[in-house]
Amino acid sequence: MTPEQLHRVIVTVADAVIDHADELTALDQAIGDGDHGLNMKRGFDAVRADAALLAAKPLPEALGAIGLQLVMKIGGASGPLYGTLLMAMGKAISPDGANIAAAFAGGVAAVKARGKSQPGQKTMLDVLVPIEAALSAGAPDLPHRLPAIAQAAAEATVPMEATRGRASFLGARSIGHMDPGACSSALITAAVCRALG
Ligand code: ADP
Ligand code: MG
Ligand code: MG
Repeated sequence: MTPEQLHRVIVTVADAVIDHADELTALDQAIGDGDHGLNMKRGFDAVRADAALLAAKPLPEALGAIGLQLVMKIGGASGPLYGTLLMAMGKAISPDGANIAAAFAGGVAAVKARGKSQPGQKTMLDVLVPIEAALSAGAPDLPHRLPAIAQAAAEATVPMEATRGRASFLGARSIGHMDPGACSSALITAAVCRALG
């Protein structure tokens, strides 16, 4: 990945999160404490402000630095989890990004360990794990197909009952709403694919 491509990915993702902050907050108002959009916007405002500096780094260092920014700025449950995802990916990925599938799998494993969570619990993992599977299956037109896979996975959280995160406090009343973190994961996926496509 060239520094120009990395810069485009960073800016496209940050803009997507910032543009959808109200939608993420509305989802979190339904089954959480109503701050997911705000949390994510704070994190990605900081990342966007540093985009040029971050994009000039080799890919492993850039991912690590973005992850650290997210941990420090997002807060809540999602900050450490998204931060862990990117920092673990940064440790595993090669400078050319060729081993993205393996690096992403390592990131998802780190999120599971950090969150003590698994797919099926109505969290971001319900989107991250299907993406991991699609990446390791490695279809040739993946950047084209991945946004729809992620969106379908986020929609599949609607009928789930949350058993991790704040939404789990609601028990069965969490059913019928999309998980905010699943939604942010899907929109970040779409933005990455758009930027690389
Ligand atoms: P908080 O819940 O602390 O207010 P956010 O609202 O920013 O934090 O993020 C909530 C999202 O974090 C949830 O929608 C869910 O996707 C994700 N999440 C929360 N706890 C976990 C966990 N243990 N494992 C995976 N994801 C989680
Ligand atoms: Mg919240
Ligand atoms: Mg909160």
